Amino acid sequence: MATISTHPPPPPPQTTPPHPHPPTSKSSNIRDKARHQNLTNPPQINNFSAKYVPFGADPDTSTESYSLDEIVYRSQSGGLLDVQHDLSALKAFPGSYWRALFDSRVGKRTWPYGSGVWSKKEWVLPDISSDDIVSAFEGNTNLFWAERFGKQFLGMNDLWVKHCGISHTGSFKDLGMTVLVSQVNRLRKMNKPVVGVGCASTGDTSAALSAYCASAGIPSIVFLPANKISIAQLVQPIANGAFVLSIDTDFDGCMKLIREVTSELPIYLANSLNSLRLEGQKTAAIEILQQFDWEVPEWVIIPGGNLGNVYAFYKGFHMCKELGLVDKIPRLVCAQAANANPLYLYYKSEWDEFKAVKANSTFASAIQIGDPVSIDRAVYALKNSNGIVEEATEEELMDAMAMADSTGMFICPHTGVALTALMKLRKSGVIGSTDRTVVVSTAHGLKFTQSKIDYHSNNIKEMACSYANPPVSVAADFGSVMDVLKKYLSKTPKY
Ligand SMILES: *Cc1c(COP(=O)(O)O)cnc(C)c1O
Repeated sequence: MATISTHPPPPPPQTTPPHPHPPTSKSSNIRDKARHQNLTNPPQINNFSAKYVPFGADPDTSTESYSLDEIVYRSQSGGLLDVQHDLSALKAFPGSYWRALFDSRVGKRTWPYGSGVWSKKEWVLPDISSDDIVSAFEGNTNLFWAERFGKQFLGMNDLWVKHCGISHTGSFKDLGMTVLVSQVNRLRKMNKPVVGVGCASTGDTSAALSAYCASAGIPSIVFLPANKISIAQLVQPIANGAFVLSIDTDFDGCMKLIREVTSELPIYLANSLNSLRLEGQKTAAIEILQQFDWEVPEWVIIPGGNLGNVYAFYKGFHMCKELGLVDKIPRLVCAQAANANPLYLYYKSEWDEFKAVKANSTFASAIQIGDPVSIDRAVYALKNSNGIVEEATEEELMDAMAMADSTGMFICPHTGVALTALMKLRKSGVIGSTDRTVVVSTAHGLKFTQSKIDYHSNNIKEMACSYANPPVSVAADFGSVMDVLKKYLSKTPKY
C-alpha cells in the first residue's frame, strides 16, 4: 500500500523525554513540559484525522460528513452521527507499534498521556492540541480478579470485573466527558459560539459534565427533575459549581426542555446522542485487552440503558482487530433491567420489531430508559460480535449485588444487572466455567448506598432480601455483647 512507504514505522516510542534539557524552573508543570517537548521534538508528522459521518452510512455511496469542529449532533436525515477515523492512515503503522505505544504510556504523568483515554489520543481525537485537553487522568481503572465470587457462585476461575466506576466522579461517564469537554474547550478557543455546556440528567452524566467543565472554567448547565433525585446525585453538580435548574417534571421532560433551549441559545448539548463521548468510552475496551497483555477474553458483559456504551466497547475492540493489535473480538452481552428492557424484547423477537417501552422504576436508575437513543448502535454492536441480550429483575439484581459485595466488592446496582446476566448464562451453559469473562462495572457503589441500606435492612417491598446482613442491636453491657458474639462465632465456619 502506498501509505506504508510514505510512513515508515517510526522508532519505538519514547518512554523518557528525549530532550536533554526539559524545563526545570519551579514554575513549570506537566502541561508546560508537554508544550516544550512538542517544540523541541515535534511529534511525528502524520495525517491521522477523524470526522463525523452518519451512523451506519455506506462508505461507498454516502458523501455526508462534518468536521469535528462543527457543532452538529444529528445527520441530515435526523439520524445518529459516528466519529470515523482515517483507518488507512492509522494502518500505516503495524499493530505491534500501537501496542508498544499504548503500553509505554500507562501510569505515567506525561501530559496528556497519563490518562487512560488520552494514552490512545491518536485513536480518539487525533487533531486536538494537547494544550486544549481537559483531563483528570481518567481511565486506567482496575481490572479486578473476582476470585471468590467466581469460585463460590459460578464455578469460574477466570472472571474479572473492569471497575470503570472507580474514577474521578465515580462512573465511566468520565471517559466520554473528558473528550467532549476537551473538544468544547478547543471550539471556544477557536471563537466558536459556545457559552456553556448543558445536559439533562439525574445522575452520572451531570456529575461528569460539571466536574470537567469546572476544571476548564467552562460554564455548565444541568437540568434536573425536582424531587426525583437523591442527595448523592444532586450534590456533585452543585459542589462543582454547575448552574443547576431544578424543574418540576421528570427526566424526559428535562430532556425535551434542554433540546428546545439549546436550539435557541449557544449552549453545547452534552447528552448521550453526542458521538464524541463514545470515542472516550471505547478506550475502556482497549484497556481491557492491554491489561490481558493483548489476549482477547471470551466474553464482555455490559449493563445498557441508552445503549451508547455497548457500542463504544464494540468500537474499541473492533478497532484493535482492524488495526492488527489482536486477531479477534470478544462476544458482547448487553444486560438490561427487566423494568426497562426494550433491547431485550427486541432481541427476543429475533430483531423483528423494535418497540419503545415505558420504563418502570428500577434500583439500576441510570439505565431506567424505555426509548434508548443509541438503539441502532447497540444492535449493530451485538450483531457484529455474536452478541446476546439478558435481563435482570429487581430481586435478581439486588441479590447479585449483595452476593458480589459479600466477596469483597462494593458494586452499583447496574453491575448487579450485569452479574445477573452472567449467572443466567452460566446456568444455561452458554458461558463455560473456564471462559475468560469480563463484567463491566459502570459506577462506584458508594453512589448507591441507599439501595444497599434498604436491602440490608430488609426494607424493600416484595423482596426477600435473601443476602441481607443487618446490624445487630445490643445493650451496652459485657454479658449481652458476649452472648451475641458467641452465637455468631458458633455459626461461622471453622478453619
Ligand atoms: C450511563 C450509565 C449506564 C448506561 O450506559 P448507556 O451508554 O446509556 O447504555 C450504566 N450504568 C451507569 C452507572 C451509568 O451511569
